[in-house]
Amino acid sequence: MAMEYKNVRTTDISRREGLLSALDDLAPLPAPYDKNGLEPAFKDPKPEWAETNCCSLDGFCAIDTMKRPETQEEEDELKVKFLKGLEKLFLDANNKYLQPLSLTMEYCAKCNTCSEACHVYKAANGDEIYRPIFRVDVLRKLYKKYFTRSGKLLGSLTGADIDLDWETIARLGESAYRCNLCRRCAQVCPMGLDNGMAAREIRKIFSMEMGLAPTPVHAKGTQLQLKTGSSTGLTRPALLDTLEFIEEDTYERTGRKIKFPLDKKGADVLLFHNAGEFMAWPENPAAFAILLDEAGVDWTLSTDVVGYDSVNYGIWYDDVQAKNVAMAQFEAARKLGVKRIVIGECGHAHKAAVVGADRMADSEERGVPVESFLPMMAEFVRNGRLKFDPSKNDFPVTLHDPCNIVRQMGIVEPQREILRKIAPQFREMTPHGVDNYCCGGGSGFAIMNSYNFGDFRTKVSGRMKFAQILNAFADEMENPDIVKYVCAPCSNCKGTIRDLLQAYKATARYNVQYGGIVELMVNGLASMDRPYFEFLEAE
Ligand code: SF4
Ligand code: SF4
Repeated sequence: MAMEYKNVRTTDISRREGLLSALDDLAPLPAPYDKNGLEPAFKDPKPEWAETNCCSLDGFCAIDTMKRPETQEEEDELKVKFLKGLEKLFLDANNKYLQPLSLTMEYCAKCNTCSEACHVYKAANGDEIYRPIFRVDVLRKLYKKYFTRSGKLLGSLTGADIDLDWETIARLGESAYRCNLCRRCAQVCPMGLDNGMAAREIRKIFSMEMGLAPTPVHAKGTQLQLKTGSSTGLTRPALLDTLEFIEEDTYERTGRKIKFPLDKKGADVLLFHNAGEFMAWPENPAAFAILLDEAGVDWTLSTDVVGYDSVNYGIWYDDVQAKNVAMAQFEAARKLGVKRIVIGECGHAHKAAVVGADRMADSEERGVPVESFLPMMAEFVRNGRLKFDPSKNDFPVTLHDPCNIVRQMGIVEPQREILRKIAPQFREMTPHGVDNYCCGGGSGFAIMNSYNFGDFRTKVSGRMKFAQILNAFADEMENPDIVKYVCAPCSNCKGTIRDLLQAYKATARYNVQYGGIVELMVNGLASMDRPYFEFLEAE
């Protein structure tokens, strides 16, 4: 059923005072979270945040580096930069995404099919500011006003009716960070338009022209990665220590000996992990090592700068940063002379390396083919190179489909083929596959915790995913004696689902666990003497 729109117009974006949306009406959650008191409350924004930053879109602040100008000169300078960036977006020489962007700007029929598909819009019960076309409408009006003859001459008569000041620019920038770039909206648009891509183009103006991007994705993301070797700040010596620790810990926990092969020249497979796995979920790289060794793969990890971190946050906000990171990763692979790169459990790394990098450099410049781990693992399951005892995984399991791997790359079946073989109680979420909902952490949200932004993730952008998890386990949800496992084969999705389960206390109250797919595979391996999951050991 179509939702009612709340009464905010695009022209309100330049309103001087107040919030455009107070986010006071969220979609209800299924049982048991339909009862009062189980959902955490929003943390109130501190008044001083609004003095320095923009919190006037909806009370949240994503771009922590976007400070309120102190003088008129500063504000004017910002306006000039914004308009220069807006103009550049529509110059062919500057933008490889010009055609889909132009089509999205020109041909919208305002049918709102995309709104009904957007999990943020649905979670906020049809709040106008989260409608996928809201931010694009603002962009369209500004472009018309400043760069078209009719807009310059006739102004508001042609729809070029938005005033440009700091508040307008800042709210538009914030609004580009209320979209997960999941492109579910693009999938349903009858005109083939892509509002997710347009949100990313707005982020580009802010980063590439105005030098404004959230600290976790830029200063502590791409910049840290290029400087230290990884977006977590994990340097080569720290990586070596960490890998040694993982080897020892895996042996102690499971009785299984592993040895990470490092910088092996000419290996068949260079495995790329999201470096966050080494620190936050060491059982994931350990599980890969167990599976690849058992399948007899000739593989290696790189310890070169950026060669041990598949992350590429640039694809969310900045073409130059994206290319710098991608090229450093391909260089590490070329130096080792490996036959192929295989990307582990990181969705945006899949998209950046497999389908994004071909817009950044030709195949000769890249030099090494790159693929997803999922078809390779499915093949090992199919051809019997890995042998399982599914009774070890005899608890309810559901699968989250990472948008970048599934909707945006079409890898849908391999993970299901694996789960059907190893998890007897596997059940799908609704909807799933290419129709899945984003976890709520896509496009950087998973790592963005400045000010109160974490609340937006756990209560708004992650809301539909949490509802899907509750529905998938509806029969067993309220029985804490039954382990329930959310399989999320992507580091960022996994982090977001961890945060959801913590915020709603779903692990503590109802024994909902989470992890990747390779951990579940290792837990089900016939050759393992002990459970791989600590939560099973405790039983
Ligand atoms: S579905 Fe497409 S045509 Fe319809 S409102 Fe959305 S972008 Fe416009
Ligand atoms: S890309 Fe996803 S989050 Fe962004 S507007 Fe479209 S459906 Fe909503």
